[in-house]
Amino acid sequence: MSKILVIAKPDLVIRRGPGAKMLREFFAFMKSRVVASNKVKIGEELAKEHYVHLKDKPFFRWIISYITSYDAFVFVVESEVQVEKTREILGNTFVEKANENSLRGKYGLTAGMNGLHVSESQEMADREIRLWEEHGVLHEGVLNFNAEEYITKYADGMDNTQEIHRILRDVKGKESVDSTATMALHDKIKEEANDISRDVLERFYGIFLETLKER
Ligand code: ADP
Repeated sequence: MSKILVIAKPDLVIRRGPGAKMLREFFAFMKSRVVASNKVKIGEELAKEHYVHLKDKPFFRWIISYITSYDAFVFVVESEVQVEKTREILGNTFVEKANENSLRGKYGLTAGMNGLHVSESQEMADREIRLWEEHGVLHEGVLNFNAEEYITKYADGMDNTQEIHRILRDVKGKESVDSTATMALHDKIKEEANDISRDVLERFYGIFLETLKER
């Protein structure tokens, strides 16, 4: 049995249908026991420590502003499945490169907005769990967020991932993303985010658009 840290990032939370499906498939594969859980808007200090290994990357500021922009669900999950196997079903960091049968390939949005974080090794898992406990977000044995209820509520919701990927493939390589594509992407995400407030959706969409500029 090993324990890993799992984060359902803001894109997974905002895109209700794809997010709930991704969580459902992840937990089914892991046959896991959730030993700690919480719903949290991640603080900047914790985000920077969590992603400290990326601090010199050009996208560091972007990932910090994104991960702290809205609620995330965080779990410590105990499972017999090896971390390496878990990373395999999760898929490539870049949704565009992820195997289409992997979770990120099926439900992720784009590059940095890939739904789920899963510790990448046992060593990283131990460090991450310690860090999130130290920051008071997770406590072994305390379940503050019920993933099962969430999945039941949202798993039948709208899932436009395939159409979104198709639009993103069409705009790939173009110098700028035209307004028709921008509006279509906005509408597709809005349909998925059915009970998310307009402010949250617009902020999220702004952060999403930044990822397209760098293509
Ligand atoms: P993983 O999440 O697959 O373990 P990393 O630890 O390398 O990947 O990166 C952490 C997170 O940072 C990624 O999941 C993604 O959200 C974001 N990220 C990584 N590379 C990029 C990039 N080139 N542009 C934008 N975001 C990125």
